[in-house]
Amino acid sequence: MAENLDILIVGAGPGGMAAGIMARQAGRSYLILEKGGNPMQGIIDTYPKGKKVYPTIPKKYTEPFPVDEVRPPDSRVPVEAYIDQARAVARDLDLNIRYNEEFKAIEGQYPDYLVKTASGTYLARNIILAFGSNIPNDLGIYGEAKTVARKIENGEDYIGINVLVIGGGNAAADVVASLSRIKREAEDDTTVYWAHIKEKFEINKDTARDLGEEVLLGGHIKILQRAVPKIGEVDADGIDRLYIHQTSGAAMGDDLYLYQGMSFPMKNVIACIGHHGPSAIFDALDLQQITCTGAICKIAKEGERLLMLSHNLETSHKGIFAIGGAISPSHMEIGSDGIIKEKRHSNLIYTAVLDAKIVMDHLLSP
Ligand SMILES: Cc1cc2nc3c(=O)[nH]c(=O)nc-3n(C[C@H](O)[C@H](O)[C@H](O)COP(=O)(O)OP(=O)(O)OC[C@H]3O[C@@H](n4cnc5c(N)ncnc54)[C@H](O)[C@@H]3O)c2cc1C
Repeated sequence: MAENLDILIVGAGPGGMAAGIMARQAGRSYLILEKGGNPMQGIIDTYPKGKKVYPTIPKKYTEPFPVDEVRPPDSRVPVEAYIDQARAVARDLDLNIRYNEEFKAIEGQYPDYLVKTASGTYLARNIILAFGSNIPNDLGIYGEAKTVARKIENGEDYIGINVLVIGGGNAAADVVASLSRIKREAEDDTTVYWAHIKEKFEINKDTARDLGEEVLLGGHIKILQRAVPKIGEVDADGIDRLYIHQTSGAAMGDDLYLYQGMSFPMKNVIACIGHHGPSAIFDALDLQQITCTGAICKIAKEGERLLMLSHNLETSHKGIFAIGGAISPSHMEIGSDGIIKEKRHSNLIYTAVLDAKIVMDHLLSP
C-alpha cells in the first residue's frame, strides 16, 4: 500500500478529470483510478463515432464552465477530437491516472479509507465517486441482451439496411443523426426509423439543431411516436426479430383497438433507452439512499432509490462524495433547513465538471 492520499477519484471522465486537475493545481496528493485504458473511457464507450460534443450549459446555471481543460470547444468538434484533447491534457499535466484499475470496494472509516481495486489497495482520506452511470436500461424483451446494440460500433455496418433506433432522448437523437449522415454520404436510400414510446421527444437545442440540419440535407429519417417494443420473435428463417407497435388510439368498438406494427431483425435495432443509476453500487458501499414514494419524486419513478447528498455532494459517509453521471438524473439533497428534496441533475459534461468544482472548493477550503 502506498502513501496516504488526500483525494482518491474513481473514474477519469469529465468529472473525475476536472477534480484531478483541481487537486493537482492545489498541490494536494491525489490519484484517479480508471477501469478503462484511456481518459474519458466512458465517453469512448457510449458515443457514436463522429458525434459532435456540445459544451451545453443548462439554462438555470449561470457559472461559466469551471475547468477549461475538459470543456468541449464551442466549434462542436467530433467526439474523437474531444478524446484527443483529454489525452493531451492528461499527458501535458502529467495527471496521476492509473488505467485498467477497476474500483471495487471501500473499507475502513474517515480519514483512513481503504479503497480496494481488482489488483490493489489504496489508503485515502477523501474519495470522489465519479464513475458515471453506465448501466443500460432493459427493453424488457426476451433475447434482447444478446442481440440489440446499445450504440453504433461501426456506422458503415448499417449501410443498405433499414435501421430502428429506439429512445426519446439526446443519445437516440445523436444516433439517428449520425446514421442518417453516414447513409446520405454513401448515397444509401434505406431509412432510419426513430421510435419512441411517448408522443414527445426530449432533446436539447444543440441536438435538435443537428437533427434538423440532417433532415433538411435529405436524410431518410422516419419518426414513430407512441411506438412500443413488444416482443422478440424468431422468423421462419431463424432470424431474431423485434416487433414494435404503434397505438393509433383508434378504438373500433367492442374492446377492439387498431394497431400498426413493424418488425425488424434485432441486428438492425439500436436501443438508446438510457441508463440507470448505480444504486446497487451505492448499496454495496453502504451509502444512504432514499426510496421515492408518493409525491416525493418528480423525476425518478416510484420505488427508485436515490442517493442522499449534502449541498457539497457529500454522501452519508464523511469524506465520500459522488458527482456527475453517477448522481443523474436526480438525487436527494438535504437542505440547510434539514429538509430532504429530490434534486434534478442534468447528465452533462458541464454539470459533472461543476460538481467536481463544488467538491474541490469544499475540500480545499481552510
Ligand atoms: C450518446 C451520448 C451523447 C452525449 N452528448 C453530450 C454532449 O454533447 N454534451 C454534454 O455535455 N454531454 C453529453 N452527454 C453526457 C455526458 O457524456 C455525461 O454527462 C458525462 O460524460 C458525465 O461525466 P462523468 O465524469 O460523470 O462520467 P463518465 O463520463 O461516464 O466517466 C466515468 C468514468 O469512470 C470509469 N469507471 C466506471 N466504473 C469504474 C470503476 N468501477 N472503476 C474505475 N473506473 C470506473 C468509466 O470507465 C469512465 O471513464 C452525452 C451522453 C451520451 C450517452
